[in-house]
Amino acid sequence: MRPEKLNYILSSISSLKGVGSKLEQIINKLGIYKNIHFVWNIPNNILERKFYENIHDAEINSLVTLNLKIIKHEPSRFKRQPYKIKCICGDTNIDLVYFNARHPMLRQMLPINENRLISGKLEYFRNTFQITHPTHVSALNNNKIIKSKEAVYSLTSGLNQKIMNKLTDQILNNLPNFNEWIENSILNKYKFKTWNEVVKNLHNPSDNNIKNKNLLRRRLAFDELLSHQLAIGIMRNFNQKKKGLEITSDNKTLNKFYSNLDFQLTNSQNNVIKEILHDLGSSNQMIRLLQGDVGSGKTIVALISMIKVFESNFQSALMVPTTILAFQHYENILNLLKDSKINVLVLTGKDKGKERKRKLDEIAKGKADIIIGTHALIQDTVKFNNLGLAVIDEQHRFGVYQRMVFNHKNHKPNILVMSATPIPRTLTLAAYGDMKESKLIEKPLGRKPIITSSLSLKKENQLINRIKERIKNSSSKFYWVCPLIEESEELDLKAAEERYKILKKYFKNKVLLMHGRLSEIEKEEIMTKFKNDDYKILVSTTVIEVGVDIPSATTIVIEHAERFGLAQLHQLRGRVGRNDIQSYCILLHKDNIGEISKQRIDIMKQTNDGFKIAEEDLKIRGPGEILGKKQSGSPSFYVADLSFDYDLLEDAKIMVEDILSRNPKLENIEGENLRNLLYLQERDAAILTLTAG
Ligand code: ADP
Ligand code: MG
Repeated sequence: MRPEKLNYILSSISSLKGVGSKLEQIINKLGIYKNIHFVWNIPNNILERKFYENIHDAEINSLVTLNLKIIKHEPSRFKRQPYKIKCICGDTNIDLVYFNARHPMLRQMLPINENRLISGKLEYFRNTFQITHPTHVSALNNNKIIKSKEAVYSLTSGLNQKIMNKLTDQILNNLPNFNEWIENSILNKYKFKTWNEVVKNLHNPSDNNIKNKNLLRRRLAFDELLSHQLAIGIMRNFNQKKKGLEITSDNKTLNKFYSNLDFQLTNSQNNVIKEILHDLGSSNQMIRLLQGDVGSGKTIVALISMIKVFESNFQSALMVPTTILAFQHYENILNLLKDSKINVLVLTGKDKGKERKRKLDEIAKGKADIIIGTHALIQDTVKFNNLGLAVIDEQHRFGVYQRMVFNHKNHKPNILVMSATPIPRTLTLAAYGDMKESKLIEKPLGRKPIITSSLSLKKENQLINRIKERIKNSSSKFYWVCPLIEESEELDLKAAEERYKILKKYFKNKVLLMHGRLSEIEKEEIMTKFKNDDYKILVSTTVIEVGVDIPSATTIVIEHAERFGLAQLHQLRGRVGRNDIQSYCILLHKDNIGEISKQRIDIMKQTNDGFKIAEEDLKIRGPGEILGKKQSGSPSFYVADLSFDYDLLEDAKIMVEDILSRNPKLENIEGENLRNLLYLQERDAAILTLTAG
């Protein structure tokens, strides 16, 4: 069905030249699984690498490309000694310097008496020019010239810009050609270029002009919103024709569960549960968004819904963003259901081979009643026996729920999307169509607001002394979060390691370190240790952000709080304050911080209300934050950002209404072009719906 020309762009990155399974996993961490995701991975900067005839024209410490003649190799004789290669540029001496070099490789790459184009950072050291570890070496007649401008991408540890550039180039050289799917009036209105032009220009930027770049980005944002609206429209047409499930039962298991519960549900929880059970009992498909701040108790609401579904002999699935969370939910739910006959299963990327097969089998045969998992749940190989409810817990991209539903083709399962980041009504309408909303507006009884204070990093010693006191006198545990630096996990890690070393001096073996370079399994082990053993402080990069629940951790220190966005600060703070013990959040910041950072910190000190924080956030976020960065914690699109692209969304909606009223089955050439877009944007479920309906 899918046109062949789309195969390449939609295939897994494992089929790219130079990507083995190890590199694949590393790149996956950036949210890049298929070739097309490289296209959407917009560079956040460009590097200029100027070519200089005359070395004296070049600036020290800038990136340069030079034509060098290789004169002499001076290999290192012992380990610490650098390997030097004497060269000349015109008639000026310059050294290339390599540490821990592989000698044969250098001899081959840089033969004596030949010229090479060499690129790297120009340094001046002991009266000589030098380049340490040149990033590029190329023969003069090589047609792969060194680019004078190079895109800079977000990285994660184990990756470098060169790899990212090379792989992106590989894909750019194999882009399919498409007929235009956007209407002329809209192309003209926004001055959009063609898809191919935009993609090429974005990844081979000629300047760093934000405005130009934004114009290019907005074309891709429009495509994304158009496909999304189209998918929603198609699903809606289909839904009007088909009945949903009626979930009715005697409430026996449910009542037993209620009576065993050792806390009282909040009014908010009770109201929301009523709304959900009402939806489940009707013959219309439920599509409902449950919003509630961190710690407001969404999980139990989901669980009660799933128990209800179990009673009617249907399966439920709960999808969460990370393996750690999947296991955390699995254990909690297993514990809460220990007196019942409900079969709970967890499926993540960790399951391989036989074990995976066994689990898939239990899901397909209906032996598993509640299935908890990560993205692994929406792979084609997962076939549910009779899915009655899909719950999707925070942080996924818009559109995932559509795929989730379609994994079961016999009927329409009910959908509950849960989000800890409040999403304004306008945005939910856009993102989900006619989705109903429930809100948990109160925290469980006895929760005290988290007390938030700020402190200059200079007074760090005071803080450490306070922590010492507290550890002596209570069983409290501490999170210590280290900041995000330039979106690079590598640098994050360094900051966290430094901090870990410092804290170890004071607290010896009571400190643990956690960071993104660890595997999911290792992370999980550390969390378990921190929870159960006699550790007091968990130093971490922002990887602890999502949903982790350790009740005895009552204080969170956020270092360089000025570098975080409000949504992120609020999410992080939500790691504490999860029971009735007074919790604290300490925002450590450097001395001279900007106005916006100051505002953010003030808002954090003033309120614990996530809905209010979200509002304030929208107010103070400037357009400078559009490109490259994503607000974590809330569901998102790849490229579009609804706080800046709302006008595009309106136009996409109008365009879709017009198309679907004229051409609901997406036929003829117009339909074909739009189907290409749907495939490209991974909205295959919508196309399946077209054929099914
Ligand atoms: P979130 O909304 O962030 O997902 P959780 O569902 O993880 O919140 O709930 C946070 C904690 O509060 C959990 O330990 C949960 O068991 C507990 N909890 C949920 N509802 C209540 C309640 N009504 N009373 C007391 N504790 C509750
Ligand atoms: Mg949660």
